[in-house]
Amino acid sequence: MNLAFHEYRVKKIVNVYKHVDGWFWNKYSAHPYIGCRSGCEFCYLRGTRNLGKRDPETFDTLIQVKTNAVELLRKELGRLQPDVINAGDWQQPAEEKYRLSRAMLEVVHEFKFPLLVIERSPFLLRDLDLLDAINKQTWVGVLLSFSNVDEKLKRAFEPHSPGIQRRLQIMAQLAQKNIRVGASLMPILPIVGDDEPCIDETIRAVKDHGGTFVAASGLTLDGVQAQHTLAAVETYDASAIGLMVRELCAKHAISDRMPRYCGAGALALNKCIAEQLHRQVYELELARASTPRLWAYRQAAWYVDETNENIAAIFETQGEAGLRALPGIGPRIAAEIAGWLSTSTRK
Ligand code: SF4
Repeated sequence: MNLAFHEYRVKKIVNVYKHVDGWFWNKYSAHPYIGCRSGCEFCYLRGTRNLGKRDPETFDTLIQVKTNAVELLRKELGRLQPDVINAGDWQQPAEEKYRLSRAMLEVVHEFKFPLLVIERSPFLLRDLDLLDAINKQTWVGVLLSFSNVDEKLKRAFEPHSPGIQRRLQIMAQLAQKNIRVGASLMPILPIVGDDEPCIDETIRAVKDHGGTFVAASGLTLDGVQAQHTLAAVETYDASAIGLMVRELCAKHAISDRMPRYCGAGALALNKCIAEQLHRQVYELELARASTPRLWAYRQAAWYVDETNENIAAIFETQGEAGLRALPGIGPRIAAEIAGWLSTSTRK
């Protein structure tokens, strides 16, 4: 298959998210390329939000290269509060030529930002020295992506992506460097890839290669990308899959959630409380709780994460009543926060 590169300059490289999500915890992302040679059929990046007006069928044959990604990253990180950034793209043959991801890691290291990497490519190991340095300086979390470890499914759904065994070897090498590493099982493929033995084998392989967590969910469908996925997706039961993954993770003694980087400083404990509240959101999703209940926890998580008020200090001086007076924190959530703070070792 022919591959073309289109070089261009962009005005901005860092995406700043309004809220962190409860899966990957990154506040920022910055990617030097658009399009991907791996051409996974389920990839949500085929959608118009990523490709704009470009023909989605060129997703895996035309790679747009943001040639000024590194200089922009240096400029923009200098103005931002350090928090987890998802930066780089190693699954691009373009990286061998342009080396933008490597240069971006150097900037992340220079500005002392913690780093999230979600990858399929062994090319990541080229930069193991920098990942190690960032990890020692702040924090690195790596997720190797799999839809599962079945080679036949891989060939059908990820025609050009790196091999599964190779990905597992990367995981082992990262774990040896004490970098926290796990697997992104996103998406678990409905019907063909969601049976228990298949997921069990995947989680066991993650555990055997030094992974300590998995993040698993179903498909995200967006515009044309939906045409590349299964029509039977409506029968997919996300909550049942989540519960199955949880049970299998418990069996293999790993977590079904990625740990969060909470950092240091006065508001670090706020981030840990927000992590607990986001975990609660996931529990409620698994339990198929009502939407208002779910949103109450989600909004409380966002408030705690983003406020400049020190939640622990409020609890210390005003008790649970002080927590209840905060926007969006009702008696039930206040009691839970009080419980976590009373038992927290991070004070
Ligand atoms: S490797 Fe990742 S970015 Fe590339 S097509 Fe597959 S899912 Fe999309």
